Amino acid sequence: MDNDYYIRKWEVPSFTNPDKIYTVSLTKNGEYQCSCPQWIFRRKECKHIKMIRERENIEIIKPKPIIIVNKTPIPKFSVSTEDQRLLSLLDEL
Ligand SMILES: [Zn+2]
Repeated sequence: MDNDYYIRKWEVPSFTNPDKIYTVSLTKNGEYQCSCPQWIFRRKECKHIKMIRERENIEIIKPKPIIIVNKTPIPKFSVSTEDQRLLSLLDEL
């Protein structure tokens, strides 16, 4: 088999037998494959693939830290009593 066929491989311990390790592979076509019987015999997305996919998604959507550069200071408005009354009314809505 072509070695370039798989982009990534993960080793996932079996959920029922921790001594058993299954290999989840990501193919060039973006397909996930697993070495567990469920995938081999049923070609059904197994929990190992699901786990890897979820983990990958988490890695992808993990937000980058936002750095806020505050160059101009926020002007301080003097809040009149009228405005304060309005604000407290808005809070009640
Ligand atoms: Zn599996």
